[in-house]
Amino acid sequence: MECRTLYYEDCHLSRFTARVTACQQAQKGWEIQLDATAFYPEGGGQAADTGTLGGVPVTHVREKDGKIYHLCSAPLEVGAQVEGILDYAGRFDRMQQHSGEHIVSGLIHSRWGYHNTGFHMGSDVITIDFDGVIPAQELPSLEAAANEAVWRNIPLKIWTPSEQELPNVRYRTKRALPWPVRIVEVPGYDTCACCGVHVASTGEIGLIKLFSAIPFRGGTRMEMACGRWALEILNQTYDQNRQVSQAFSAKITETGEAARKMNDQLAALKYRITGLERQIFSAIAQGYAGAGNVLHFQEGLDNTALRELADAIAETCGGAAAVLTGEDGAYGFCLVTRQGDLRDFTKEMTAALGGRGGGKPNYQQGRLAAARQQIEAFFHTPGGHHGLEF
Ligand SMILES: [Zn+2]
Repeated sequence: MECRTLYYEDCHLSRFTARVTACQQAQKGWEIQLDATAFYPEGGGQAADTGTLGGVPVTHVREKDGKIYHLCSAPLEVGAQVEGILDYAGRFDRMQQHSGEHIVSGLIHSRWGYHNTGFHMGSDVITIDFDGVIPAQELPSLEAAANEAVWRNIPLKIWTPSEQELPNVRYRTKRALPWPVRIVEVPGYDTCACCGVHVASTGEIGLIKLFSAIPFRGGTRMEMACGRWALEILNQTYDQNRQVSQAFSAKITETGEAARKMNDQLAALKYRITGLERQIFSAIAQGYAGAGNVLHFQEGLDNTALRELADAIAETCGGAAAVLTGEDGAYGFCLVTRQGDLRDFTKEMTAALGGRGGGKPNYQQGRLAAARQQIEAFFHTPGGHHGLEF
């Protein structure tokens, strides 16, 4: 028995009653067939509707050989009249995306002659692939034209031309299709072969936002969103921008400039700090001139500064320089000498003090998990380790 496709008759239908015509157990539940349904089965890039049938959750809907199977989590009695209730918010989201996608694809086709070669509806954006290059700078004018189609609130014309009419209908399609062909037309913007469910009028799309157009397989991959999805993403990004604007005390329309300025200031500060550090390191190193092996603790050094200070001390002390920075339980170390091999010493030190390290024979760097007292005790051990006494 044929199943009436109520979703094609009325795209706004969210509740209906129908009779159960078949119920078979499947892998993940029961597959129910009805004599009529408003549940759209997955197809044409559009996900299946979900909801309930006779109070039982419908988790997926598929079509095969003209039959529509509703995957339900419990069986329903054949012959029973059941009420179907769609998760209509999700369905409406998908109609907004799909109809918006047609308008954008139609505009691109009429402007450049490109075809839509792939269409994926995610959970918050859709991606469309085109077989030609769309320069990113064209997005604003494309987006403006697409939204104009929304504002004009044009009723969609969805029809199936007769076998005689069909050869005279010009429509977008991936490949030549045999009759019958369902045509979805946004008058003035697009005519396309499509099996999806669409909004009744373009005004229902609400908003079309194009996010990006990047080169993809010789063509273009475009990211966009419509309606509620678009509003949500714009709200999120606006909220982030509001926070940035507050953090920078900048106008919300001038946050980019404020961020660039801040970066420049940071770079200038880093440059100054490096210069000042070098002066301090050089003064410290002078204090150790001719001191032999040196153990030195210095607060708040990053890896680069740690190396620079160890190197500066090794230059003047005439022995090995060990510099440590950090706090009890988490010290960074750098050992440098102008002659000799520090690897055995480092190995014993990391084994004794719970850490790890490595590097060139005369240039060892790593971390220790010990406290300052333990480290000092190790370094000051009378007789030293591996010929090195500090
Ligand atoms: Zn379509």
